[in-house]
Amino acid sequence: MDDDAVFYQELPKVELHAHLNGSVSFQTIEKLISRKPHLNIEHSMTAIGKGQRRTLDECFEVFKVIHKLVDTEEDILMVATDVIREFAADGVKYLELRSTPREEKDTGLTKRSYVETVIKAIQQCKEEGVDIDVRFLVAIDRRNGTEVAMETVKLAEDFMLSSDGLVVGLDLSGDPTVGHGKYLIPALQKAKNSGLKLSLHLSEVPSQLEESDLLLNLPPDRIGHGTFLHPEVGGSQSVVDKVLKNNIPLELCLTSNVKGQTVPSYSKHHFKYWYQLGHPSVICTDDKGVFCTDLSQEYHLAASTFSLSHKATWKLSHQAIDCIFAPEAVKEQLRQKWNDLESRVLK
Ligand code: 5GP
Repeated sequence: MDDDAVFYQELPKVELHAHLNGSVSFQTIEKLISRKPHLNIEHSMTAIGKGQRRTLDECFEVFKVIHKLVDTEEDILMVATDVIREFAADGVKYLELRSTPREEKDTGLTKRSYVETVIKAIQQCKEEGVDIDVRFLVAIDRRNGTEVAMETVKLAEDFMLSSDGLVVGLDLSGDPTVGHGKYLIPALQKAKNSGLKLSLHLSEVPSQLEESDLLLNLPPDRIGHGTFLHPEVGGSQSVVDKVLKNNIPLELCLTSNVKGQTVPSYSKHHFKYWYQLGHPSVICTDDKGVFCTDLSQEYHLAASTFSLSHKATWKLSHQAIDCIFAPEAVKEQLRQKWNDLESRVLK
């Protein structure tokens, strides 16, 4: 590893946008394939390698393949513990994982046992002493409509009360070209009223401006991607103003957007627009397994593309602490951790 790569690896980091099944590494996929050889799944079907690009539709097909491999409590436990350990090994000190609870009739998996298993994985890693604080966001897949969204909110509310602070919020994700967010507003509002934090994927594709405008009235606590919010790419100033007025942080995933072809190149990524405004912009991975990346690499790419010094990059990772969903006391602990590491890492 060259000196620069060492810096990004040692940089303490906060990961706020990581979909569990998109984060499964090559090694874990190998283990899953050997558990289920009859599925005839090859590794090329679960990841998008260096230099490769896919349409957004094709990316969503990849998740369907991974879901076939991860369909028991045992699989989920292995996947979640592996993912947490990998983030920790990459220097991530605080992680918010998100995942869509799934029911699998054939294996007896229920949405409730799905969430319980992720929580068990988080607790197991804690007991093992893995150096990372992990929280969970229950995800709503927009494809599944109003009723399922409401059920998911109820499930998240139950776990918010019973998980000892591990379930902190709700994510809205899934294929952005399917369904309309306006039908999900009652469920999202209910979640917000009960104290769940909201991270919503907004304007990942150009046609969603009206939906984003509506959902911003909630307002959400963070925005996933927000690729087409700003006027330079067909968004609008009034939508940008809503984001600025409410100071809603953006979760930005460079490689995911380049490989999924929603942005044309790293240098044209909307990180530049929001960062130049001084708006809270958090570098994240999205799906480190599918897009073959890790958070150190994403920080490295952002720094080299936008000419950020080590000091500016440190500040970026430090500011991400302000955007986490865990309570103020956790933010304080993390700030202390950053302080303790600063003189060694930021030489
Ligand atoms: P899971 O929720 O099964 O742990 O993770 C995979 C799921 O996350 C996908 O099926 C999809 O609903 C969601 N997801 C992962 N990456 C993206 C993304 O870039 N955009 C959107 N809208 N959803 C995503």
